[in-house]
Amino acid sequence: ARDRPPRLARVLNRIDLRGGVRDPRRLLPRAQLDVSVAVERIRPVVESVRDHGYPAIREASERFDGISPDVLRVPAEVLAEAEGTLDPEVRAALLESISRARRVHADQRRSDHTTQVVPGGTVTERWVPVDRVGLYVPGGLAMYPSTVVMNVVPAQEAGVRSLVVVSPPQKDNGGLPDPRVLAACALLGVDEVYAVGGAQAVAMLAYGSAVDAAGEAHCDPVDMITGPGNIWVTAAKRLLRGVVGIDAEAGPTEIAILADDTADPAHVAADLISQAEHDPLAASVLVTPSPALVEAVERELSRQVPATKHAERVTTALTGEQSGVVLVDDLADGLRVVDAYAAEHLEIQTRDAREWALRVRNAGAVFVGAWSPVSLGDYCAGSNHVLPTGGCARHSSGLSVQSFLRGIHLVEYTREALGEVAPHVVTLANVEDLPAHGQAVRARFPGAGS
Ligand code: NAD
Repeated sequence: ARDRPPRLARVLNRIDLRGGVRDPRRLLPRAQLDVSVAVERIRPVVESVRDHGYPAIREASERFDGISPDVLRVPAEVLAEAEGTLDPEVRAALLESISRARRVHADQRRSDHTTQVVPGGTVTERWVPVDRVGLYVPGGLAMYPSTVVMNVVPAQEAGVRSLVVVSPPQKDNGGLPDPRVLAACALLGVDEVYAVGGAQAVAMLAYGSAVDAAGEAHCDPVDMITGPGNIWVTAAKRLLRGVVGIDAEAGPTEIAILADDTADPAHVAADLISQAEHDPLAASVLVTPSPALVEAVERELSRQVPATKHAERVTTALTGEQSGVVLVDDLADGLRVVDAYAAEHLEIQTRDAREWALRVRNAGAVFVGAWSPVSLGDYCAGSNHVLPTGGCARHSSGLSVQSFLRGIHLVEYTREALGEVAPHVVTLANVEDLPAHGQAVRARFPGAGS
């Protein structure tokens, strides 16, 4: 008798929705982060930075990062040196990433628009950039020069005049942020960079930091904070929302792949692994009507996962309850599933991939066909990689030029145009029992309304 082939361990959980997709949102679990507990833990840090400024920042840095630089603001010569000593290959890759992102984001600029409501009555929408923005660049477990690019480029293309970057001090860089992060700032022309991370960095951006006795530190408060971070950073952003504007709260990263039997299982497995590499809580979800593809992808995962550098983290993420394979009857049902899931990243690896992609309603970004993997979008597609997670793609978009603009309405009516509509204004003011509102119009037209 021939030996049976060895039984391959299944890596991914299976969710079988064949026979009809009902309530897919409940069936697709997501990793949960309890940010509210973290908010209470970092509240004293934030309040201390608010009340005491620089000394409180130093104390928190020493406590949480094990180091606090003597000078918080990174000197100009250090930024120049980081750029000058950058590996030429890394420099070329960063410049390519920056130039592609610039092309896409420059196209997002909006022009002001005037609507003539009636003769003599116009509303103009002016798009005005936020004045001062703080960008958080993580630096705990890994370094992210690409995050500098993805946050700075849209802010600059929106016309933000004052940009400041914060990133945690690194013990192995003398208390300065990672040199590649500094180099990316220099390449982008950002010259205000502080060596501070975590909740203390978010608080410093929100409240500003006073100059200390030696005149060492001074950071003016910002109007808006963007950028990803760990749970402490997210908690501080949640706590300070309102004091400053913030972008979305970034949860653990996600990929969903809608694939049929035309997909290459080696590519599908590689893409699932690439997302799982970020975080043990990352989600990798394959949605397909093809059981043959599922088996082939499982074989590829068994082969590729042990060979990848961060195999332990990847295995935890892929076998976690937030990851899995969803079997469906056909691609139309698959589309229903991925729409309900609303993934941060969605790949479509099917026949007629573009047709399916155009039918997607909910996703942070859609990567179409065999040659547009998420890794391309992470670095060099030109698109932005700061995208909504945790199902927020149902109502929110990724970071863009628009994120840094405010639409200010200019309301301009002539005497005649106001006079014509005055009775309606007075009527509506009376309905809402706000007679002083009506009076503000009647003061101009004593005879209007009753
Ligand atoms: P981080 O910079 O977000 O956090 C490090 C800081 O956390 C430290 O400077 C320290 O001050 C603070 N800290 C550490 N332990 C603490 C504690 N017990 N209490 C209070 N504060 C504490 O860096 P990280 O930890 O590497 O996390 C980065 C996160 O950002 C990851 O989850 C990563 O997946 C995510 N990320 C997302 C994107 C995206 O585009 N969505 C891009 C890059 C990174």
